[in-house]
Amino acid sequence: MENKEWLFGKSLTELEKIVVELGEKKFRAKQLTDWIYTKGVIEFDEMSSLSKSFRDKLEAVYQIGGIDYNDKCESKDGTVKYIFPTVGGSLIEAVYIPDRERGTLCVSSQAGCKMGCKFCMTGRGGFQHHLTTGEILNQIRCINSITPITNIVYMGMGEPLDNTDNVMRSFEVLTSEWGYAMSPMRITLSTIGVIKNLKRFIEECNIHLAVSLHNPFGVERAALMPVEKTHNISDIIALIKTYDFTHQRRVSFEYTMFKGYNDTDQHIDGLARLLKGLKCRINLIRFHKIPDSKLEPSSEKQMVYFRDSLTKRGIITTIRASRGEDIFAACGMLKGEVE
Ligand code: SF4
Repeated sequence: MENKEWLFGKSLTELEKIVVELGEKKFRAKQLTDWIYTKGVIEFDEMSSLSKSFRDKLEAVYQIGGIDYNDKCESKDGTVKYIFPTVGGSLIEAVYIPDRERGTLCVSSQAGCKMGCKFCMTGRGGFQHHLTTGEILNQIRCINSITPITNIVYMGMGEPLDNTDNVMRSFEVLTSEWGYAMSPMRITLSTIGVIKNLKRFIEECNIHLAVSLHNPFGVERAALMPVEKTHNISDIIALIKTYDFTHQRRVSFEYTMFKGYNDTDQHIDGLARLLKGLKCRINLIRFHKIPDSKLEPSSEKQMVYFRDSLTKRGIITTIRASRGEDIFAACGMLKGEVE
């Protein structure tokens, strides 16, 4: 793999700085974004509106960048899990989920993860490195060339708000006119709630927010998610309540259901109290059992009861359809199989 820095993933402002440093006029940066993001070229020689000398100067220092996936696994329900190598030599996953006219790509933001959630294979494997903006966007560009993507969720490997600069820059490229001009309403970031970075995310972009909640009670949540000890769920919800999520922008909560751990009447009461006054949705998620874990999935009957009880309390609650179970779609599992 070539060692030069990627241009793919750079913002217009970053490219302007680069072209000026190379002795060219600032407007050349916009020509670069057209070639890289609108036309999707992969060779400098294809950039025919740029002089040969400028292309040579660029190529001496940079590469356009991009890596193909090196493995994939397709579920009988059409879900496809792709494995990408990273520049740093790790493996990451992106999962494509087709659903009628919608094609959702679940992207990774880090190789591995520091957060150590007890129900997650990625957390168990530890942290390797942050993905660059280019590596995050590369998953989208690569899969979109195979099959159309309508929606993107930052819900793959890693905690996106532990890699905030690169994730925020990827939103800028995705939603800017000079980039992919995608509506922010088609993108969702899922976080366990790193408070300082969550505040920045809410204030600096208009992407939908999903929070991994999994338990309304701090002590119990900490047993599943060590991050609760430093970023507790009460503070996260209090912060979210200070912003307006009543118009186009949505906030939702992910709630993976574990038998006996978070699926009782007390948890229904706790959720109703915690989320009181917030316009939101709860997505109940079936737990895909992982090796060597005591955690078991809640029964179908209990999930329906939980959903209906929360709905009666005025919280829109859905049970998310389980996709890709036969290909180990649970976070981090296919990568584990490949390794
Ligand atoms: Fe990290 Fe998300 Fe897994 Fe938790 S669930 S360990 S935040 S990847």
